[in-house]
Amino acid sequence: VINQAFVGMAEKIINEQGAISLAQALEMAAAGSHETMDLIFLAGKIRQRFKQTQIFKCAIINAKSGMCPEDCAFCAQSAHHHTDVATYELLSAQKLEQTGLEVAAAGASNYSVVTSGTALTEADIETVCQVERR
Ligand code: SF4
Repeated sequence: VINQAFVGMAEKIINEQGAISLAQALEMAAAGSHETMDLIFLAGKIRQRFKQTQIFKCAIINAKSGMCPEDCAFCAQSAHHHTDVATYELLSAQKLEQTGLEVAAAGASNYSVVTSGTALTEADIETVCQVERR
C-alpha cells in the first residue's frame, strides 16, 4: 500500500498548491527502502506534470580508468578490488574531443569527462585543457 502522506505531498505539488515543507521533504528522505519505488512513481508524476516528456541527453566518458588508491567498497575503479575493469591512464585530448563531438552528433547536450582517482595530475590537467570547447 502506497504511503498516503507521500501521495498527498505529491498531489499538493502537482496541483500547484504550494511547495512541501522542509519537514515533509525530510520525511520522504527518511523513507525506508521499501518505499523507494513509491517515491520514484510519485516523482515521475510530478515530472510529467511540469516537464511532460521533455528530456535532455547527457553522456560521460570514462577518461581514466582503474588504479585508484582509494578503497570505496562499491567501486570497480579501486585498486583494492580484483575486478576485470579496463585500466588506463588519461585518454588523449584528441580522443576526449572526438568522443565529445560524436556524442553531440548523437544528440547529447551535455558531455562529462569522468576520471578515476583522487585528483588529476598537473599533466592530466594540461591534457584536459587542450580539449577545444565548441
Ligand atoms: S574512483 Fe572514486 S569512487 Fe572509485 S575508488 Fe576511487 S575515489 Fe572511490
